[in-house]
Amino acid sequence: MAILVTGGAGYIGSATVELLKAQGAAVVVLDNLVYGHRAAVADVPFYQGSIGDKDLIGRIVKDHDIEACVHFAAYAYVGESVTNPAKYFENNTFQTNNLLNALIENDVKNVVFSSTCATYGDPVRIPIDETHPQKPVNPYGWSKFMTERILEAYDTAHALKSVALRYFNAAGATEKCGEHHDPETHLIPNVLNAADGKLPFVSVFGSDYETADGTCVRDYIHIADLADAHIRALDYLKKGGASTHINLGNGLGFSVLEVIEAARKITGKQIEVKMEARRAGDPSHLIADARKAAEMLGWKPQFAEIETIIKTAWDWKMKNPNGYAE
Ligand code: UDP
Repeated sequence: MAILVTGGAGYIGSATVELLKAQGAAVVVLDNLVYGHRAAVADVPFYQGSIGDKDLIGRIVKDHDIEACVHFAAYAYVGESVTNPAKYFENNTFQTNNLLNALIENDVKNVVFSSTCATYGDPVRIPIDETHPQKPVNPYGWSKFMTERILEAYDTAHALKSVALRYFNAAGATEKCGEHHDPETHLIPNVLNAADGKLPFVSVFGSDYETADGTCVRDYIHIADLADAHIRALDYLKKGGASTHINLGNGLGFSVLEVIEAARKITGKQIEVKMEARRAGDPSHLIADARKAAEMLGWKPQFAEIETIIKTAWDWKMKNPNGYAE
């Protein structure tokens, strides 16, 4: 029996594959390598292909005796989703629908799904628990929101059991897996690029938010903690758990300026800052209420400190200054 990990060459997927392997699980990776890195995939069977290729899914399930799927594969640039929504609905929703149908046809009925706090949209209360209204403010959020609804319908119709994990801000690195996006839009890698001279400065998008220092507050969660939660969700489903949605965050908020200050401490570098206009679609605060993950999965983040999270990212960057070799 093996676990199929789609998007296993991506940032969070590769860290989850690493942990699954370390725990002795058999793993198979499917990734189209549009944004993923072949070098990020550990020594496991690898297929380059589309999640919507039903024949391929059928073959993988049969050849590897797949018992469950962890579905990471998705496009995740919020800004791009606004200018090119079709790309997001096509891949994140329609191709995912094909994947789920192929899994059901081949009798794979346990799925852990990468969802996102972007399905909540602008928060009406903080911290955000799973009962918070879901009203996405961009096509990326809607593409994931719709997949959550598809999963619910397939539970009713086909007894497909799923855990949709709604991540807050994934960050940090493990020994082997780190953040390498092209283009890079995320805060921590950009701050570290400014620290090591790859960028002349880090842009701060908005300093007039209703927060203590005027910059946006986010809940940064380490990828090793995310990986651990996925494995706990798989175990939960294996034991017959009902379909559910679970937030993954630390429940702690750090502002953009606090992240930069922490990075100065860790790297010992000055890190120039340039105040810029707000970025469209950024809510002022996003902080998780992650009590459900603790209660249902027994999950407790091990890397809650922002300094620790940044240090792991910096250590990885020092070892891999140009990211993964292509
Ligand atoms: N941000 C910033 N400069 C950057 C990248 C991001 O000020 O170079 C801000 C962004 O506006 C947001 C926060 O940092 O308030 C986190 O952004 P990121 O893109 O890392 O994650 P998001 O919250 O959008 O998923």
